[in-house]
Amino acid sequence: MFTIGCHLSSSKGYAHMADAAASIGANTFQFFTRNPRGGRAKDIDPADAAAFASKADAAGISTILAHAPYTLNPAAAKPETRDFALMTLADDLDRMEATPHQLYNMHPGAHVKQGADVGIQKISDAINQVLKPEHTTTLLLETMAGKGTEIGGTFEELAQIISRIELSDKVGICLDTCHVWDGGYDIVGDLDGVLERFDQTIGLGRLRAIHINDSKNPMGAHKDRHEVIGGGHIGLQGIAAVTAHPALRDLPFFLETPHEDIAEYGEEILAIKAAREGML
Ligand code: FE
Ligand code: FE
Ligand code: ZN
Repeated sequence: MFTIGCHLSSSKGYAHMADAAASIGANTFQFFTRNPRGGRAKDIDPADAAAFASKADAAGISTILAHAPYTLNPAAAKPETRDFALMTLADDLDRMEATPHQLYNMHPGAHVKQGADVGIQKISDAINQVLKPEHTTTLLLETMAGKGTEIGGTFEELAQIISRIELSDKVGICLDTCHVWDGGYDIVGDLDGVLERFDQTIGLGRLRAIHINDSKNPMGAHKDRHEVIGGGHIGLQGIAAVTAHPALRDLPFFLETPHEDIAEYGEEILAIKAAREGML
């Protein structure tokens, strides 16, 4: 089965997201756990979580992906910035138990001129502090574009973080097509080669989710500007090939493309499904 969806607003709760996903032919979705810039999370309404569970069942939604605020920086030099990241991650992981056995994605962080080694150490220390044996959630580290001092722009950096995590069986990777492309991985010309490098450094078994985005920039630009599918340098065929690849096709795929209206995601999903069919 092809599992595909897009990023949805969580402002009206879980049950509403299940309805929104079903309305555009999606069988999964991503959402922010709180304001993407950080801040306090709304309390989870148990009635909403229960309504979600039954709606999800009816809509064939078995996997959902929560996304941490993208401003969190567990590698920060400033103690108060790092403490805020730790507090938010811990709170999010507790809240994730309202929807057990799901996926929670985070950007690893930025070393802000402390050097990649210090950044990697701080990120893995932070994850070791917040991950608890009782958590049922899988924590995903997202592959990044390598913009500025971002950590996670190479598979090697992500492998180094994971190697330092104690409860590493609870940790996986979310691969973002725009980010790896901008990071210099040629997923259009040599997808097999990129996946082989991933397998050798991290292991394909760690790969749990894919963000499918086209890129406004050429390969290796280290920019991170998402484009609608078919409007950028990766192209519809390039994205469809990622969704059809034997090593990837059973994973959940999430669009984070720039659209104003949810119906446009429905059209994008249809176009990807059609292009993917021809490749299977
Ligand atoms: Fe992200
Ligand atoms: Fe992403
Ligand atoms: Zn991005």
